[in-house]
Amino acid sequence: MARDTGAQCKQCRREGQKLFLKGERCLTDKCGVERRSYPPGEHGRGRQKQSEYRVQLREKQKAKRYYGVLENQFRIYYDKASRQGGITGENLLRMLECRFDNVLVRLGFAASRRQARQLILHGHWTVNGRRVNIPSYQLRDNDVIAIHPGSTATQVIRDATELTGQVPAWLQADHDSLTAKVLRKPERREIAAPVQEQLIVELYSK
Ligand code: SF4
Repeated sequence: MARDTGAQCKQCRREGQKLFLKGERCLTDKCGVERRSYPPGEHGRGRQKQSEYRVQLREKQKAKRYYGVLENQFRIYYDKASRQGGITGENLLRMLECRFDNVLVRLGFAASRRQARQLILHGHWTVNGRRVNIPSYQLRDNDVIAIHPGSTATQVIRDATELTGQVPAWLQADHDSLTAKVLRKPERREIAAPVQEQLIVELYSK
């Protein structure tokens, strides 16, 4: 499975904001953006030209990096979103938000999407009683998520729950039994991604 293995702090620095890709470290003063608040690379501190295209491109790159999705897969999400009824940008964000790895982060069962992917790939989670090892798996209304009975990652997952503030209203989590339920699809206002999805739609519509 192809995945992004690039340096994560550089990705945040490129986008000029914290994308919280590293879990606990992101909450400390070791955060790359806190330490070096300019883009990476030799010309990082130089003046950047701003064009409409550049702004739209950066927004798309930011969304890909935030959700840990590669270009081809992101394009597939966009194509599906544009075929659905309603607002394309919102459809796109909703699909990204309902990925299994993202939902584990929202539930507090993983400190980062990268950790969530690792836990899923190693078979530590079930959906509706069946082991699911596909990080991009799209969760649906009323899906029940639970730690696999034989999982050896219980302590790692419990440690992650300590970092969690609030679980969004479209999800329900039980941090004692390490189970959860998808109550419904999220509304746009419930999606806490730092992304202006309209800019991505404009980019792909050119
Ligand atoms: Fe981004 Fe986290 Fe690195 Fe800070 S510590 S730059 S938020 S990945």
